[in-house]
Amino acid sequence: MSMADMREPIESGCPDGFQYMHPVMRKNFGQWKYHDDPQPGVLRHVAFSGDVVFTIKAGTQRILDVFTLRTLCDIGDKFADGFIRFTIRSNIEYIVTDEAKVQPLIDALTEAGFIVGGTKNSVTSLSHTQGWLHCDIPGTDASGVVKSMMDELIGEFTAWNMPNRVHITTSCCQINCGGQGDIAINVQHTKPPKIDHNLVANVCERPSVVARCPVAAIRPAMVNGKPSLEVDEKKCICCGACFPPCPPMQINDAEHSKLAVWIGGNHSNARGKPTFQKLVASGIPNNPPRWPEATAIVKRILKEYKEGAKDWERINEWVERIGWPRFFEKTGLPFTKYHVDNWRGARASLNASTHIRF
Ligand code: SF4
Ligand code: SF4
Repeated sequence: MSMADMREPIESGCPDGFQYMHPVMRKNFGQWKYHDDPQPGVLRHVAFSGDVVFTIKAGTQRILDVFTLRTLCDIGDKFADGFIRFTIRSNIEYIVTDEAKVQPLIDALTEAGFIVGGTKNSVTSLSHTQGWLHCDIPGTDASGVVKSMMDELIGEFTAWNMPNRVHITTSCCQINCGGQGDIAINVQHTKPPKIDHNLVANVCERPSVVARCPVAAIRPAMVNGKPSLEVDEKKCICCGACFPPCPPMQINDAEHSKLAVWIGGNHSNARGKPTFQKLVASGIPNNPPRWPEATAIVKRILKEYKEGAKDWERINEWVERIGWPRFFEKTGLPFTKYHVDNWRGARASLNASTHIRF
């Protein structure tokens, strides 16, 4: 085939977002003078040109069925200017240029069962990963944890009660996406994988599995005359990284896969450097369908943060100011041998916090 016959590559990935943007936002791109918050769930952006746009934010369940999407789009066609966008935390945002359209739009969303909020110093919509719907390695269903927690935190989503913004995330396995936020709820496996030796040779590429283990706990082995793998359980940190490339190394377990809560993760911003989150509660039962134990811990942390933090302190800044021992005293969470530092140099520091010494 000559070069002249070669077809253009088909680009995949996200389409250019500009084509879907509200025309007033497109016109004023990069030319905004300021923005403010007229009421919970509503942002007002004012451009140097004098143009004004209002953004109305509502929480969704992230994994949307077609009926719900059509309902949301119909609301956008009827009560907004026909433009929507989704934020990274599964909120839908409508953009209008006429202030008179704001309240009817909020009323239509509320009527249809959607909650408007999630701006300024509120608890934003919990972000979550794919869970059982798309992924093959979850230890829990992220959507379920999010739904049951948000049901209890609706009042914090619709109001500006918190000292600053609170981002909560969930992650349905222990190793991959999600799980970096002011409060993160992550899966925590507590037992090494159980190996189905009959299947390993047929299903797993053993060198890849050995290479996946962060603490070199996996070795090739012959079991019952078949090539398989073995795990040094003294070394294994129960991370679950061997399960994706080798499903016969079953790590998910109804009883021993727990939840853990980490706090204080933050990306860098104009005021501070990035901070790593720290484990504050472990071994929480993974208890569907409402996960009451995990929710109670999150609510307890939020209550102490709300009462104790200064205005505009994020959770990590609040804890840094009062100190970690005081955080555990105030929240009543037990400090155990499972609390570790932030995994830098984990080989040397696992189970030995550099922050708290008892
Ligand atoms: S957190 Fe883990 S289990 Fe959940 S979607 Fe991401 S990779 Fe899959
Ligand atoms: S669970 Fe993690 S530490 Fe344990 S054997 Fe598998 S990869 Fe290694």
